[in-house]
Amino acid sequence: MSTSEPVFRRVEEGVFTYLRPLGKHGPAVASVLFMGLESVLAFDTLCNPKDMTLFSKMAGDRQVYVAYSHADWDHCLGTGAFGSPVVIAHEFARGRLLAPSHPELDAVRRESPELVKGAEPVLPCLTFTKSLALDLERIPHGSLRAATGKGRQRAGRPIQPVLTGDPSRRRIEIRHLPGHTADSCVAYDVTTGVLAAGDAVEDPFPSIGDPRSLGTWISGLREWAARARTVIPGHGQVSGPELLKRNVKYLRTVAGIIKDAASRGTPPESLDAEYGLERAFPEIMARLDSMDPREREFYVELHRENLWRTWAALS
Ligand SMILES: [Zn+2]
Repeated sequence: MSTSEPVFRRVEEGVFTYLRPLGKHGPAVASVLFMGLESVLAFDTLCNPKDMTLFSKMAGDRQVYVAYSHADWDHCLGTGAFGSPVVIAHEFARGRLLAPSHPELDAVRRESPELVKGAEPVLPCLTFTKSLALDLERIPHGSLRAATGKGRQRAGRPIQPVLTGDPSRRRIEIRHLPGHTADSCVAYDVTTGVLAAGDAVEDPFPSIGDPRSLGTWISGLREWAARARTVIPGHGQVSGPELLKRNVKYLRTVAGIIKDAASRGTPPESLDAEYGLERAFPEIMARLDSMDPREREFYVELHRENLWRTWAALS
């Protein structure tokens, strides 16, 4: 199933994915292109501008919106491929990108320079707190294009233009869904029922980087499971709402495990022995056994980290 080459796919009318392998840095990561008559939305720009060459060509002379699912290095570094995009992200993502140092990205630059060649963080010019809606069939507000300009330097100023009027046939909702990270969000295409979920959803289970948002995350995923027809995770295959339900089950179980461990006084170093994937999640373990050995090891380790981080935050 895993390959060393990127994979382009048409998911359905006006929705495309570009899946980019990450080698030793983890399972392949997906960007999603939503195409409308007047504009397109690239949800995540992956690791370097080359990753976005195809999407940039497909956009042609349409207005390009870029939205970051969150500010992790594998999701937001290819924005430079687009001429003058309107870049959107949660306000916390903007803060993360403005941080004086990015140790994870620095490590990737040292270990796998080709993976992030030409990568340059582009700041969002449009941020939101809870949600934002885009209309891909309308030309955006005139001042928006003027304000974003061509160069990247000017993209640092937050602006708040009106992007949508009445709901049209191609409305995209971008909603905050913290839990993987505090700045995580998802994009939902009202027309097709496609949910591009970034790392808020992952197959077989997500990484818990913001354990204090677990409750919000779980209830958000449940809502989306009742609404979305197709789910595109940041890492993993295109799925249906059952993936959201499986992620909810995993997250609820981890929360329950930590509650139980805390009440019994289980020390953190015993968590993995008592609640490792083999024992607590045999169905996930069975699925991992059919995966590439490197990915299998990645998720075994990820579960260990999830237990530790959740224990540290909630116990
Ligand atoms: Zn990721």
